[in-house]
Amino acid sequence: MTLKAENVTRKYGEQKALDNVSFSVKSGEVVALLGPNGAGKSTMMKIIACYLPQNEGNVSVCGHNVINESLQVRKLVGYLPENNPLYLDMYVREYLEFVAGLHKLGKATPNRVKEMISLTGLEPEMHKKVGALSKGYRQRVGIAQALIHNPEVLILDEPTSGLDPNQLQDIRNLISDIGKHKTVLLSTHIMQEVEAVCDRVIIINKGKIVADAPTHELQLLNQSKRIIQVEFEKEHDWEMLKGLPGVMDIQIRGNKALRIFTQTEKDFRAEVFRFAAQKGWIILSLGFEDQSIEQVFRQLTFEV
Ligand code: ADP
Ligand code: MG
Repeated sequence: MTLKAENVTRKYGEQKALDNVSFSVKSGEVVALLGPNGAGKSTMMKIIACYLPQNEGNVSVCGHNVINESLQVRKLVGYLPENNPLYLDMYVREYLEFVAGLHKLGKATPNRVKEMISLTGLEPEMHKKVGALSKGYRQRVGIAQALIHNPEVLILDEPTSGLDPNQLQDIRNLISDIGKHKTVLLSTHIMQEVEAVCDRVIIINKGKIVADAPTHELQLLNQSKRIIQVEFEKEHDWEMLKGLPGVMDIQIRGNKALRIFTQTEKDFRAEVFRFAAQKGWIILSLGFEDQSIEQVFRQLTFEV
């Protein structure tokens, strides 16, 4: 395992920001840590990047422990913190040379800086001061500095927050490209980001992991709480449907279409069909609603 967290707990005073969190990430995976504000994403990332110690549990990167082998771990991990703190008064190239110096890259520095500028598409802006760059280009600088020492693992804390739609797309593309060659753990609260960029998603809420699955499997996680969409020819007394065993709720869309929230193992479409037939209600369409990651996320984190 490239990255392994075992039973990690981190407290701030009495509050548990992370509560017995375990997960692992394989080499080459691009994994999202998805969760609402305050879920514990940044805390987890700081621990992996050796910026903050956990209170309990173990975290290792390529087999090296973050507490007693932090020097090795720092070499293996590139980290873009939340809000991307940069030296705004430095020129782009100067800043990257500075970071290369921190990593003691020595003679390799000029080449590495050049490679990073090219990889992150910074050429057109490389002669500017960091403070003069747009937010999208600042993120590129942030990603360039995180990669300069050629780490195995890239940790990106909300890398697209605050970007406009074009910048967002550019940075997502860049992360996807980098993800072809590196192990990436990124945090986000945006579902589309997960669908666009990540192989797998770990959903975290209030310091606990509530789901961990390949992105494409997540939609199937909540099979037992299925949503059925049905359209009738005419308006009827929809309240009657609420009495059917297994129906949790009904949402009316327009006059004639419904979303029926069910909690049952069986295929509820047949029940709806039978009920409608009994009443003589004519169905125009009937089917399962594709659950988006967003809906599953809400169910898992807020129990809607
Ligand atoms: P996320 O990145 O998912 O928004 P964080 O890891 O930043 O969540 O925070 C998790 C919880 O820990 C939050 O409730 C937050 O208020 C709390 N927390 C984070 N940092 C500190 C700190 N330095 N002191 C006290 N509480 C903190
Ligand atoms: Mg955060």
